[in-house]
Parts: sequence; structure tokens; C-alpha cells
Amino acid sequence: MSDVSNLLDLLPVYYSRLFPFVDYYRWLSYGNAAAFSKREFSFTLSDDVYIRYQSFTDLKGLSDEIKRLLPHKVDIGAIYNIQPRDQRRGSNFQPVERELVFDIDMTDYDEVRTCCKGADICGKCWKFMSLACKILDSALRLDFGYKHILWVFSGRRGIHCWVCDSKARTLSGQVRAAVAEYLQIIGGGEFMKKKVHLTGDKIHHSIKRALDIIDPVFIEMCIKEQNMLGTEEGIEKFLAILPNEEDRQEMKVLFSKEGTSEARWNIFVQYIESKRTGGDRKWYLYRHLIEEIKLQYSYPRLDINVSKGLNHLLKSPFCVHPKTGKICIPFSANAVDKFDPDKVPTIMTLIEEINIYDVKDKVEEETYELNKKRIKDYKKTSLNKSLHIFQEFLQHLEAERREQRLKGKISTDRMEF
Ligand SMILES: [Zn+2]
Repeated sequence: MSDVSNLLDLLPVYYSRLFPFVDYYRWLSYGNAAAFSKREFSFTLSDDVYIRYQSFTDLKGLSDEIKRLLPHKVDIGAIYNIQPRDQRRGSNFQPVERELVFDIDMTDYDEVRTCCKGADICGKCWKFMSLACKILDSALRLDFGYKHILWVFSGRRGIHCWVCDSKARTLSGQVRAAVAEYLQIIGGGEFMKKKVHLTGDKIHHSIKRALDIIDPVFIEMCIKEQNMLGTEEGIEKFLAILPNEEDRQEMKVLFSKEGTSEARWNIFVQYIESKRTGGDRKWYLYRHLIEEIKLQYSYPRLDINVSKGLNHLLKSPFCVHPKTGKICIPFSANAVDKFDPDKVPTIMTLIEEINIYDVKDKVEEETYELNKKRIKDYKKTSLNKSLHIFQEFLQHLEAERREQRLKGKISTDRMEF
């Protein structure tokens, strides 16, 4: 079912039996109830009614209101200096803390994918998301030292990344912009042909790492599956990246002698290698060209405005995508290759799973006169796995907080002596 016309019938069950409010609060309070109460939530109700600046003093306040309003979509905003619901009373209302977030959307890949367009997504396009996740995840961990990174499927055609380390949550807007720009190497918009420019003799270690992730899959994914050089249109786009007209003409001739995208790529690589090593006067034009092309065709496309601002809203994990019914589930970056967007549980399938379980359970209970322990509803469904990933993420956050508290306590104890 693609159109979720009966969402309003299903949401009461979803919010009362499946939405993980307790873990959700464990996450967004970060052990600090006062900070939670200053967090902005915004709700999209049926008929596209949109309400911003909602805030709640505790878990119960949040869950009661969500169960009452039954939002089709929940967005999470920043922590403000005062409770957002009182914002009209404060003259100096401003965001003070916020996870560092990244939004990667399949539609930004339309110029490099040929299998689908727009909101459509298939297994072949998911490979771009998979690369984006691996490249960003490793850069955030290794270049910035972040540990608490939550990856979430956006419900339809993209992924979100929430960096939740306390040092990431307190970054200023300026530093966020610098981080986002560091990670964004695809620039120039649609009208610029060559989008990646590597400068200097050596390639930056972060880009080198990205290339190490891209290399093993590039031929299969871009050259073969996306048939990068298999069509007139593809060749046109590709030739426009080359540094001069002479190369374009020469490649055109060479390409016309080859029959497949892969054969054309191989001939191109040979051509560039000979330029690089053959004593060509303009060898420097070609020194990083193959790497630049690989990056242009596969490096993550980031919507960096989402990352720059503290007050940018981002769709909440575990909310239901109103068009697909799919749940915005967390997934593990280590298992991103196995993630199948077609198999993501929908609100319809989840509620069916609960019903099937309950019927079977009741029959067993009556047949064998068992006194069964009640099990949590999400455990009866395919949401269980994503909940585990989320809980594991929370355990790591909490373990670090305990450790820091202990360290803080030890140092104050010492000070007292
Ligand atoms: Zn596709």
C-alpha cells in the first residue's frame, strides 16, 4: 500500500503501543531534564497543519500530547535558552544546543544515477546512500573524534545522521558551517561541469580515505550498473569534465571504438595514465583527474544548510513517513550494505504483526492454560531490530555520562582534601 489514507486510524495504535517514548526521552534528555524541557518539537497534523515551538517538561507531557494530537510527522529542533512554548515572552529567544545533523537525499543524485529519478529509490541507488553513510561515518569518527552517531532512514529516499556527542551538540553555528564545508567536496551546482577540484600534490587524508571506500565498488556501481559511459548522454556529461577540447575530441574517437561503459572507462584510464607519466607538458591537469571523477560520481551529496544552522528542524527517528507509511528507523552504519529500503517496516505491517501475535498468543494461552508474562509490543514486530540498535546507541551515551560523572566526582573529592 503506497497511499496511507488510513493513517489516522493507525496512528493511535502506533503511538500508544509502538512508539518508543521511554527510550526517546532517554535520548533527548541526555540525563538532563531541564535541557529536555527547552527542546523544540514541531508537529505536522492532518491537513498539513504545522505547529512549531512545542516543548514539554517531561516524558509524560510529550507522550500525552503526541497521543492526543496524533501528528503525521514529528520534527526535532534545537534546545533553546528558554522553553520554546514560552518563546513569545522572551525577547532574546535563541537556540543554544543541537545535535550536529546531516541530511542526504536521493534526489540530489539525479545527475549521477540513471536507474531512477526524483523520489524513486531502488537497490542500485541505495548503494550511493551506503557509500555516503560509510564515508561520513568514518570522517566524523576519525577526523573529528565523534563516537555517538545515530543513522536513521528518512522514510522514503534518504538518510539522516545525528551526531550526539556533547562536544558536537555545543558547536557554534560558525563551526558547524566549517565542519559541513570540510565534508562537502561536491560543489558548483548543476551548471558547473567539473565539481571536484583537488589541489596540491598530495590528496588530503580524509579524501584519500573516501577514495579507499569508493574504489572497491566504483566500477560495479557507477561504470556498470549506472552505465556511466554507456549512452550518448552519459558520454556528453563525462566529456564536459575533461580539462580541454583536445582531450574531448580524442576521447570521443576512442570511445566510439568501444562498445560498453566499462571498456570506455578502461580506455579513459589508460589515456590519463599516459598523460600523467608520458612527459606531457600539462601533466598537472591530469594528476588527480581520475580521483576527481570518481568523487564527482559517488561522493556524498550533503544538504549543508541543514547542518549549518542550530535551529534547523529534522524529522524525528521513529516517526511515520506520511506518504509511504514507512518508519524512520535507525540502522547501523556497519550493516548499511544490507539495509533494504523496500523492507523497512510500515505502520500497516507493524500493526498487522501485533494483531497476528496477539491472536496466536491468546489461542496458546487458552489451549495450554498458560499464564504468560506480558511482552513489550515492539518485540512482537519487525521494529525490534531497530529498537535494539537505538538502545545500544543509548547505552554507549549513558556509559560515557557515568564515566564523566565519576571522573568529575573524583576530582571534586580530591579538591576537598
Ligand atoms: Zn535506482
